[in-house]
Amino acid sequence: MSLSVPASPAPAAEPVLRPASLVGRTRAGLSDALAEIGVSEKERRMRVGQLWNWIYHYGVRDFSAMTTISKVLRAALAERFTLDLPEVTAEQVSSDGTRKWLLRMPPVGARDRGAEIECVYIPEVDRGTLCVSSQVGCTLSCTFCHTGTQRLVRNLTTEEIVAQLMVARDRLGDFPGRTPPEGAFVPNDGGRFVSNIVFMGMGEPLYNFDGVRDAIDVISDNEGLSLGRRRITVSTSGVVPQIEALGAEMGTMLAISLHAVRDDLRNELVPLNKKYPIRDLLEACRNYPGLSNAKRITFEYVMLKGVNDSDAEARELVRLLKGIPAKINLIPFNPWPGTRYECSDWDRIERFSEIVYRAGYASPVRTPRGRDILAACGQLKSETEKLSARARLMLEQSEAEAAALAS
Ligand code: SAH
Ligand code: SF4
Repeated sequence: MSLSVPASPAPAAEPVLRPASLVGRTRAGLSDALAEIGVSEKERRMRVGQLWNWIYHYGVRDFSAMTTISKVLRAALAERFTLDLPEVTAEQVSSDGTRKWLLRMPPVGARDRGAEIECVYIPEVDRGTLCVSSQVGCTLSCTFCHTGTQRLVRNLTTEEIVAQLMVARDRLGDFPGRTPPEGAFVPNDGGRFVSNIVFMGMGEPLYNFDGVRDAIDVISDNEGLSLGRRRITVSTSGVVPQIEALGAEMGTMLAISLHAVRDDLRNELVPLNKKYPIRDLLEACRNYPGLSNAKRITFEYVMLKGVNDSDAEARELVRLLKGIPAKINLIPFNPWPGTRYECSDWDRIERFSEIVYRAGYASPVRTPRGRDILAACGQLKSETEKLSARARLMLEQSEAEAAALAS
């Protein structure tokens, strides 16, 4: 199943310094924690349910608040574990209400220096969307994406993925009994401030299939974070062999980063296309489990000036997607220092959008959000990247050792 990079660059023989926090764990992970402190198998089932409720429904930060659990067990838990969230090393609030958090993840292996990742909250009129990362960096090197220029890559663990939502809810006061900060999207139906999740931060989610699947199980669990699978969108650059499994095992909404209508251009923009060309990608989309007019695939198309933004390309896009229940999302390119691309002019984007609209597709142009805090797609890049040359050399050496050990 896994087409993934290792969760940690450390070789298997190294002691694993897993964080002792229970936040982000699956039910099985919580059960293991209880087993570790000697809770009997029979009792564990009930205790897991209680822990689950306190951690994910109430978002408590202290074992002492878990009043349905005996004092003795609370003390035993507190001795061995924490309910810590990753440290928020920076929080930026944009003038439009977008919030960006820089999170420091504790090391997951002896040679891991920990990672810093960003996640972004975007309040809109009808929803509050959290954009989460699935990896630190990305191996795929799409030419227009800043994340793809990052050299250091590792999969985020399930806990680290879930923790992004936990931090957002904690910071937004989005647990029962808390107060939201100014500017947060507050639904009038009593729902949560974070109502939707998109896997559109750093990384290729389908290269971290198991980590993302388990995180989605935790996030969508009705007795906890309760964020329905229809409100979760997994965006992929087109890892064709995993698309069916995504639908079958995760049951979320699917977004495809298409960006070009011809293979020669897509090979350049999204190099993974050389392995899985447009034809195969669209075939996988046609077969996506659960696809219907009520559950459409979103096709993302980044608008690059003079590269992929002609009328002919808009018409070809519509032709290619014929028969697939689809939405088309036109994304104004977000420039980053050193990029060779520019964003299409506004009237070009409008013209492109009109052609798509006339063909019957709602084609919202994704309004750039949080530009003043560099919170937009393709601008997420880990701080860990800024390692010193020496630290990099050490990392390369430890990776080479790990590879030698594995072979
Ligand atoms: N790796 C996955 C998900 C993360 S990228 C994927 O590629 O789908 C999320 C979205 O942001 C993708 O559609 C990606 O193409 C887009 N993106 C990346 N860099 C961008 C940039 N500089 N400007 C606008 N969109 C960008
Ligand atoms: Fe990776 Fe997605 Fe960026 Fe491509 S666009 S480099 S797949 S994060």
